[in-house]
Amino acid sequence: MEDSLRARYEVVIGLEVHAQLLTETKAYSADLNAYGSAPNTNISAITLGHPGTLPVMNRKTIDFAIRLGLACGCQIAPNQHFARKNYFYPDLPKGYQITQDTTPICTGGQILIRTEDGQHKLIGLTRIHMEEDAGKSIHDVDVFDTLVDLNRAGTPLLEIVSEPDLRSSTEAYNYLTEVRKLLRYLDICDGNMEEGSMRCDANVSVRLVGAKDFGTKVEVKNMNSIRNVQRAIEFEVNRQIEALENGQTLVQETRGFDALKGITISMRTKEAANDYRYFPEPDLPPIHVSTEHIAHIAAKMPALPNALFERYTKTYGLSEYDAYNITDQKGLALYYEGLISHTKNYKAAANWLMGEIKSYLNEQGIDITAFPLAPGRIAALIDLIDAGKISNSIAAQRVFPELFKSEQSPLEIAESLNLLQSSDSNVIEGFIAEVIRRNPNEVERYKNGEKQLIGFFMGQLMKVSGGKADPKASNALLRQKLEAQ
Ligand code: ADP
Ligand code: MG
Repeated sequence: MEDSLRARYEVVIGLEVHAQLLTETKAYSADLNAYGSAPNTNISAITLGHPGTLPVMNRKTIDFAIRLGLACGCQIAPNQHFARKNYFYPDLPKGYQITQDTTPICTGGQILIRTEDGQHKLIGLTRIHMEEDAGKSIHDVDVFDTLVDLNRAGTPLLEIVSEPDLRSSTEAYNYLTEVRKLLRYLDICDGNMEEGSMRCDANVSVRLVGAKDFGTKVEVKNMNSIRNVQRAIEFEVNRQIEALENGQTLVQETRGFDALKGITISMRTKEAANDYRYFPEPDLPPIHVSTEHIAHIAAKMPALPNALFERYTKTYGLSEYDAYNITDQKGLALYYEGLISHTKNYKAAANWLMGEIKSYLNEQGIDITAFPLAPGRIAALIDLIDAGKISNSIAAQRVFPELFKSEQSPLEIAESLNLLQSSDSNVIEGFIAEVIRRNPNEVERYKNGEKQLIGFFMGQLMKVSGGKADPKASNALLRQKLEAQ
């Protein structure tokens, strides 16, 4: 599509995110909440919806919702009740989902994202409510039959509904990245879209720039990665603009995303939409959340990425780039916190984490949580460099690899490998004499005014000394000896 045509339209997006909660048991029963169990093993009469069984609310679900609500600056409703959302589906044994309709636990609040030009933007949240997942219909295992696994039925979910504040597929991508980060920092959901523990429906519409009203929205489902949400929105925006340009009217509908073809396909239109016949759930008592309980949860909130970013940039002087990359993964931020509890060289700690350690993780194909070295040992290595005992490159190339082989301290390793730098002028003088002896032509040129050759001589000195001449101590001495030739 031509840029000029596209530029005439504004994109409007609102996202609905479902997050499966990391509770041990299900939302309304004591059945195990676990991914990957043998099919239909984590189910009891309650999950199966047998007549006469009664649900019991899992308190963890409420606490997790409050945690997320507090992190997003939402209002927490003191009094809530559940509602039944009725529909028939083979993987919904009860024939209804227990959800929240008119009294969501959280309302308002926002998520901070970065826009394409690097600016900060707040995306409003409409609501966050508690509900349960359905089971799973499996169509691709048996050639003739659809199989049903009810392990997932009753898994506690939070549905996070955004205001239609997003204005591009990239903003949607960044929003989902931030939501996932938050869920992980809060330890309430693993955020794994491939396994379906975080899912997203994208509501997309377009309107002419300057138009007052929103255009007709289309809801797109079935994206199994954040990148695919972005692709689905891109396709949908182009499809909608083209349809409007061709004089068609858009219909409100639900479409599915085909990741292989990169297109969306109509699933059902508004006329065929479900009527869920919501009514208050009679089997669960209303919920009351006291201000004391909210305060209790607030007191135990972990540090969150935005707060860490602020501290890293403002207090520790890290670049926004480093601070963003470190806080991007909770594990990296925790490791960094470990490093700076042992060393005050915040910048070097960030460099080691994003440099040597990150490369090691990449090479090994592991996550920071599996990194075998305690932060204290890396901090000791940094301190050794700062004390002028070894150079940065010796630390990275010679000492760092040895740390994995034994429990020896960086200093012990440097000593045993004879790597300690010398600031002893007698030793350095010996090295300088050697350099001068080996490079008579350069010495002559230096004396004739080519002072920039000092860099060459320093390089030679490092070579001759095997990197063990402390650069600070050597530089002045080298100049002095050269002048004296
Ligand atoms: P529904 O009743 O169809 O579920 P809602 O009004 O509850 O619709 O909105 C659901 C989601 O759709 C929200 O995330 C909201 O921000 C988003 N949304 C609503 N209107 C639009 C629109 N015109 N374009 C894009 N997104 C929209
Ligand atoms: Mg909806």
